[in-house]
Amino acid sequence: MQNAAFEAAGLGRPYGRQLVHPEELAEFFEYARENLAGVNLTVPHKLQAAELSDELTPRAEACGSVNTLIISDRRIIGDSTDGIGLEEALKYCFNDTLAGKRIVFCGAGGAARATAVHLAGCGVQDVSFINRTLSKAEELSALCRTLYPDVSGVCTTFADENDVEMLLESADYLIQATSVGLKPDDPSPLAGKFFHPGMKVKIFDTIYHPTALQKIAAANGIACVNGMEMLIRQGAASFELWTGVKPDLSAMRRGFEAGGDGA
Ligand code: NAP
Repeated sequence: MQNAAFEAAGLGRPYGRQLVHPEELAEFFEYARENLAGVNLTVPHKLQAAELSDELTPRAEACGSVNTLIISDRRIIGDSTDGIGLEEALKYCFNDTLAGKRIVFCGAGGAARATAVHLAGCGVQDVSFINRTLSKAEELSALCRTLYPDVSGVCTTFADENDVEMLLESADYLIQATSVGLKPDDPSPLAGKFFHPGMKVKIFDTIYHPTALQKIAAANGIACVNGMEMLIRQGAASFELWTGVKPDLSAMRRGFEAGGDGA
């Protein structure tokens, strides 16, 4: 995906992949400092990368998560493009604005953290969380409210079915940001009984292959997209940070589809 963008911009194919274990991340940062101009990094490195960066952009500082390194004169700046990736994907996929919208996140892990804090700053009315572990949802919700006191929201768990039903009935967007669905035989994190034809909610599933939730949405005529466009948009934002050039999104989509895994 990134090499497709670089090639379309006449910049060759400079992007490579490196498997790095958490205990090797500090060493990788020293390699990157000497040898690379930019890095994307993903699970499980996003929080540790925020600690290892020499400097954080305000949006990375706000969410405490880093998915992009910009390296110049041996200085490593950590940034987070997941939030802008989701914002742009939502607007593009649903041809909508976010102003005044009620957003419900399913999940409160790293991806939800980086994106919920960003969406809370996009003029939405409400950001709420449904998560297996209530304390993690409450912590993330408190962070959103500290940064954006005008944005309301509540937290609940999957077990509190009345709360889940109430949240889904009033939501404009459900952002599925758990890892449930990554394995082909995973169930939907939210049972089919919570969905019915005619609901106004639209679903953005951050997982970019077919999931049980996406099937439930299709069966009920609920608008639902997978996470491909978010992956492309967060990568495109990284590309622009490194090069100062807006990438060719169509080339990135073709690159993603050819590669199959976003690399
Ligand atoms: P993470 O930090 O490990 O968080 C995992 C989340 O899933 C937590 O909310 C966790 O709940 C929940 N969860 C895990 N197993 C569960 C289960 N059996 N039942 C209910 N909830 C469960 O992972 P992450 O980095 O946030 O990634 C989450 C998802 O976002 C992944 O599917 C990933 O593919 C996707 N993602 C997509 C993009 C994109 O560009 N499209 C970018 C980033 C991430 P607890 O808090 O209770 O543990």
